[in-house]
Amino acid sequence: MRIAVTAKGPGLDDQVDPRFGRCPFFVLINPDTMEIEAVENPNLTLGGGAGIQSAQLMAERDVTALLTGNCGPNAYQTLSAAGIDVIVGVSGRVRDAVAQYKTGSFPVTQGPNVASHFGVGAPATPESGMGRGMGRGMGGGGGMGRGMGRGMGMGRGMGTIDGPPTAASPPSRRDEVEMLKSEAQRLEAELKAITERIAHVADRAPASRLIAAVNSDRCTACGACIAACPTDAITVEEIAVISLERCTGCGECLAQCPQEALTLRRR
Ligand code: SF4
Ligand code: SF4
Repeated sequence: MRIAVTAKGPGLDDQVDPRFGRCPFFVLINPDTMEIEAVENPNLTLGGGAGIQSAQLMAERDVTALLTGNCGPNAYQTLSAAGIDVIVGVSGRVRDAVAQYKTGSFPVTQGPNVASHFGVGAPATPESGMGRGMGRGMGGGGGMGRGMGRGMGMGRGMGTIDGPPTAASPPSRRDEVEMLKSEAQRLEAELKAITERIAHVADRAPASRLIAAVNSDRCTACGACIAACPTDAITVEEIAVISLERCTGCGECLAQCPQEALTLRRR
C-alpha cells in the first residue's frame, strides 16, 4: 500500500496543500513503515490539465489512496479509473493526516468536491498572483489594445493579496515594460514546462494502465480532440476512435471535448 499526500513541502512535518493538481509536492508514504518519497509536482505551472496529469502521475507511482484538500471532476475521474481512493478535506501536517488515515476515520469520497479549474487562481505568492492576472488578460485579448487594457487588472490582483486597493492610477511606461517582461518570463517558464511535459507524455511507454474511451452516444465526430493528443492516437470516423497501441492514457484529450464524450478507463 502506498498513499500520497499533497503537501507544501517534501517532509512529514510540512502542511497538507489543499490543491491536488497544483500542490508543490506529493509525499508518497508507506503507512506501515512510514518510509517516504517526496515527488516535486511537475505540473505546478501547467496552464490546464494539471489535475489529470497529476492523477496520471499518481497512477504511475502505484498510489492506492490520495489525501488532499480538494479534487476536481477530471482529476477525480482519472484517479477513480486508476483505482485510487480519494480522500478530500484533509488539512494540517502530513504526519497527522497519515496518522488519522491509519485509524480508518477518513471516508473515501464518492465524487469531486470542487469544480474544474478550482485553485488555478489561488496564488501561493503575490508574484504568482500578478502573473496569473496578466495571463488571463493577454490570453483573452482580441488584439494588442485589449490585451494591454486588461493588463491594468494586474494592479487590482496584487491589491487583493497585499492589502486594500489604492486609488487607481495607470502604470508608467517603465512599470508596464517591467510587468510585460515579468509576464513574458512567466509564460516562457510555463511553455518550457509544457514542452517538457509533452516530451514526457510522448515518450511514455504505451503500457499505461489507462486508455481513453469514447462515449458513442455523445461523440459528434467534431474532431476537436485530435489536436490535443500528443501521440496521434485519435482518428475520427463516424465517431472518434482511440488507438490502443498509441494511447498513453495521458488524459490531455478529455478537456478538449465539448460533448464530454471522453473518459479514461483501465485497459
Ligand atoms: S487519446 Fe491521446 S490525448 Fe487522449 S488519453 Fe490517449 S494519448 Fe492522451
Ligand atoms: S472532441 Fe469529443 S465529440 Fe469531438 S470527436 Fe472528439 S470525442 Fe467526439
